[in-house]
Amino acid sequence: MSATIRATTPDLRTELINWRERLESAATSSQENIELSGLLREVRSAIERLGAPESYGVCQVCHDLIGQAAMNADPLAKVCLNCLTPEQLSELDDDLGRAWLIQGEFLPKQDFKFNGWEVSYYYEPAGRLSGDYCDLVSTDAGDLYFLIGDVAGKGVAASLLMSRLHAIFRSLISAQLPVNELVAKANHLFADTTMRPYYATLVCGRASAGGDVEICNAGHCPPLLIHGQTVTPVAATGLPVGMFCQERYETVSFKLNRNDRLLLYTDGLSEARNAATEEYGGRLKNTLSDCSALSAAKVVSRLVDDMRAFSSGNPLNDDLTVMAIEMVGH
Ligand SMILES: [Zn+2]
Repeated sequence: MSATIRATTPDLRTELINWRERLESAATSSQENIELSGLLREVRSAIERLGAPESYGVCQVCHDLIGQAAMNADPLAKVCLNCLTPEQLSELDDDLGRAWLIQGEFLPKQDFKFNGWEVSYYYEPAGRLSGDYCDLVSTDAGDLYFLIGDVAGKGVAASLLMSRLHAIFRSLISAQLPVNELVAKANHLFADTTMRPYYATLVCGRASAGGDVEICNAGHCPPLLIHGQTVTPVAATGLPVGMFCQERYETVSFKLNRNDRLLLYTDGLSEARNAATEEYGGRLKNTLSDCSALSAAKVVSRLVDDMRAFSSGNPLNDDLTVMAIEMVGH
């Protein structure tokens, strides 16, 4: 039994017991849910194995450790990846492929145009699924909401929470709340329904006709405002969503003129590394300082190409999203 798994076991145990309680109450409130009772059985069995530390986190086929990353991804895992049969592996692969198609459906239209605004984005997962959140929502009132975020962790778990964020914001935006209240409500809903230690950093912005922009930044990488050769970060104004149920948020307002660009990104961009392990974030401002004449679409492709060249085409080590916004007028 490795020391790392031992160290996280008490937390995991509490978490599994929370799951069991939620599942038990859900199972009693709905009469006959076969999936729920199957999951409940799995959780009970994982708690039993936790009580006998020699069996939790150990592959039931080869008796090797399943590995911390795999146990984090699936605390109920009983078999290591090496011991899956070819059929099980291919089933897993198909499953992830279908999930990625569904995740693609959550993404907004490319080269989105609305009420004088034009937005382009690039979205790529480090693995099969992304924990990044990216959305654009136009309202009947003529506003364009732009959202970018990053759920802590990677892979399937993060992508599930990303889809929850997507649903929460989609349903709240129609209420036409002030931006800071919108984020505070989303935080409350997300924190209420998400197991710790998961949280998400995000930027929620509203662009109105005429160029007015209001931004709320919940602990996310600062958006960059490109005005001529000057690149100004828009600082974070609140904690990530999902950490505490009651959290207040502030917003920052500014005007985006026709020659300005606004860039949003996740740390898959700023923390991409080169061979000397330097981060790409160090040259982000420099690259952007001659981008103010480029269209939003070109700003995005210029940055993604530049980052790839910087990291010598190494595979992404984190999910990547880059979004650029410009005011083109009517
Ligand atoms: Zn095994």
